[in-house]
Amino acid sequence: MVNQFLVRFVPKEYSAHPERLCGHNCDRTIQFISQPSGEIVGELCVMDAETMAKDLLEALEEGSKNLSA
Ligand SMILES: [Zn+2]
Repeated sequence: MVNQFLVRFVPKEYSAHPERLCGHNCDRTIQFISQPSGEIVGELCVMDAETMAKDLLEALEEGSKNLSA
């Protein structure tokens, strides 16, 4: 990745767009913040972040299996 970015775990009130966050009433959000500008480049609620993390891990596992096969 070319751009440095920071991952921040914050209460929903700190979200740039709390109304867009999610439909499951999560009270926490994970923000991806571009450095050094401080611009919020992405946000995920905790449930979406968990789902995405699982999908990423699965893809990585599958990918490494396929590469070593
Ligand atoms: Zn949510």
